[in-house]
Amino acid sequence: MHMIDPFGRTISYLRVSVTDRCDFRCTYCMAEDMAFLPKRDLLSLEELDRLCSVFIEKGVRKLRLTGGEPLVRKNIMHLIRELSRHLHSGALEELTLTTNGSQLARFAGDLADAGVRRINVSLDTLDPEKFRAITRWGNLPKVLEGIDAAQAAGLKIKINAVALKGFNDAEIPELMRWAHGRGMDLTVIETMPMGEIDEDRTEQYLPLSLLRAQLEQAFTLNDIPYKTGGPARYVDVQETGGRLGFITPMTHNFCESCNRVRLTCTGTLYMCLGQEDAADLRAPLRASEGNEPVSAAIDEAIGRKPKGHDFVIDRRTSRPAVSRHMSVTGG
Ligand code: SAM
Repeated sequence: MHMIDPFGRTISYLRVSVTDRCDFRCTYCMAEDMAFLPKRDLLSLEELDRLCSVFIEKGVRKLRLTGGEPLVRKNIMHLIRELSRHLHSGALEELTLTTNGSQLARFAGDLADAGVRRINVSLDTLDPEKFRAITRWGNLPKVLEGIDAAQAAGLKIKINAVALKGFNDAEIPELMRWAHGRGMDLTVIETMPMGEIDEDRTEQYLPLSLLRAQLEQAFTLNDIPYKTGGPARYVDVQETGGRLGFITPMTHNFCESCNRVRLTCTGTLYMCLGQEDAADLRAPLRASEGNEPVSAAIDEAIGRKPKGHDFVIDRRTSRPAVSRHMSVTGG
């Protein structure tokens, strides 16, 4: 079974935001004072498992748990262990997650035991004070301890950093040397206009074409066809021997190769990160013990997956492209 959208793209990748809550408040992601989804609206872990399993039956090969912070969802390991049956059966190629690392020291061993092989850890700076400023609530040593534990457990790590003008652009070479020195890929990401935050996004926005030009003054970057199923385009960095990825939703829209849809913790399916259109899967899931109604609702939703997003950050566009924060749909 395959899910194919109106533009001929096969949907094989599901990202699931298992909670919109987070123990950090990154300034480009959330306002400090956030209103979260009411707990009564959340899907149970069993319902999340059932929905993910329907997607896997319909052709999803890669599943990423995200959030909010996925590791703060109560009993998350129960869901991960249950989902790993699809790895054992061969139906799923990869079960992975994106995390801020705050809880990794506690969960790394269990994740590896459950068949997770690679994870993404979001880390924008190696300076403890800047880390506290950007995350508002985060503690860098705890995240570094989590990264140590994950590597010790045998998990492959990719570091994701949002490139922010005047905040970490000058530090990217150091972050890259550090990541590559530890055998980790680094991916840099352009900030996207999602949800109201307390800051001015035009002040933060750094086009990665500029960052790349800056890096090329000190490093030799060779384009390579390496792919992980996500939107990053990679280069090999000759001087470090490591890989650097660029995710450029603003300067280079990669929608033509989009293979993804995103499910929230309330069972809402977003067919595009940058559009408001969504489908409710919770009602059809709860309406029947059989999976036919929810399967039909998924087909109907995939049938209206939009061609792409149209994010803009400039001084004339004061409203975000979509009203929801990244923490609702997940990264
Ligand atoms: N809490 C987890 C984490 O920190 O990785 C998962 C969720 S977080 C929303 C996923 C990723 O989205 C993080 O790498 C974060 O830096 C990134 N992110 C959040 N808001 C963003 C924005 N407006 N533009 C670009 N990336 C954003």
